[in-house]
Amino acid sequence: MDVFSEFKRIPLSEYLTGQGFNLSRVKAHSYKMCCPFHDDKNPSLVVDDQKGTFRCFVCPDVKGDIFDFETLRCGSSKEAMKTLCDHFGVSRTEHNELSSMHKSAFYAKEVYRRALMNPKYPAIKDYLMGRGLSERTLELFDVGFCPTRNYLAGSIKHNREDFIAQQLIVEKNDSCYDFFAHRITFPIKDATGQVVGFGGRAKPDATDTAKYINSAAGPLYDKSRTVYGLHEAKVATGSREFECLYVVEGYMDVLACHEMGLPNVVACCGTSVSEEHLRLLFQYTNRVVFLLDGDQAGFKGLKKALEAALPVVSLTKMVSWVSLGSDMDAGLVLEKGKGAWFKSKLDLPHTLDEYFRGELAVVYGTNLLETACLREQRWLDMTRGMDADLVRVLRPFIESALHEGT
Ligand SMILES: [Zn+2]
Repeated sequence: MDVFSEFKRIPLSEYLTGQGFNLSRVKAHSYKMCCPFHDDKNPSLVVDDQKGTFRCFVCPDVKGDIFDFETLRCGSSKEAMKTLCDHFGVSRTEHNELSSMHKSAFYAKEVYRRALMNPKYPAIKDYLMGRGLSERTLELFDVGFCPTRNYLAGSIKHNREDFIAQQLIVEKNDSCYDFFAHRITFPIKDATGQVVGFGGRAKPDATDTAKYINSAAGPLYDKSRTVYGLHEAKVATGSREFECLYVVEGYMDVLACHEMGLPNVVACCGTSVSEEHLRLLFQYTNRVVFLLDGDQAGFKGLKKALEAALPVVSLTKMVSWVSLGSDMDAGLVLEKGKGAWFKSKLDLPHTLDEYFRGELAVVYGTNLLETACLREQRWLDMTRGMDADLVRVLRPFIESALHEGT
């Protein structure tokens, strides 16, 4: 059961109307209403039923989906969950099942964490420390290890179903085994620190197996709404607001950045960066910087991430990116002791206008007018749905750059 999809069973406008708000129709799938979060006389909150999102044009942080709306209204995500579960008839038992799931995930995290610190299995901890990670960082992230095929499975006495539902253990022919057997485990936590899933890295000496595997989406784990490292960034800095948040590719990159004194780092695990990820990150910062590998896959990922960012960026919420060059990532930077070079890279990020220029520079027609028309079309396609004020600021940048180029 995915509770979030239950909450999206009906159009957002219908839900809000049912909550007593007065909505008026603007276009086929969009409505407006007075914003309940500021003193609003002239309806400035727009609801988009196709996307299931809302946005107030006055309050910068009033936007998101139904869950965000209730979180703003109730003051906490926990209360919002309760309110929405009640409203959509997601029963108390299911609600309780969720907390029992949280306990199982916590238990698994503990079992694996202790195994990593257990002197009986020194190899994995030695390996991680050999890559430059300190015990402090391993502890902050609750990194663990699953030494045998039956390590967690063999230790469970109750609620076996919860572990199976979260794919922590797998049932096969009447017996159970650990999904993360013989792997280094990285607990994935939500922003409040609850464990919702795991990533597992193969042992360094393992062959013919996937290097990384991740928990499948499940009752607790919604990949498009979870980023790895956000909770740890909050713990390490003692703050919930960041001057910027770096988005790196994987677990080891996040840990390496912490080790190098850069704790404001997250990763999207086993999935590409989505609009929802960015909405989540912009609750904690006004600047998101993608820090992606310089290889082919890294560039593809960056392009997808930037596209996902376009509907979310504004005059105050900005994205930029840093490329580390081919065959380099944060993990290697740490291993090779290139921290100073790394920091100098971070000081000069690429900005959004460069992305647009790059996209438009490759559009050519058979003559100047046709080229201009094709570019205009591409520009309109790319900026559709973007914040109008930001588009207005970007435009002259792009134009002067393109004139120089043609
Ligand atoms: Zn408002």
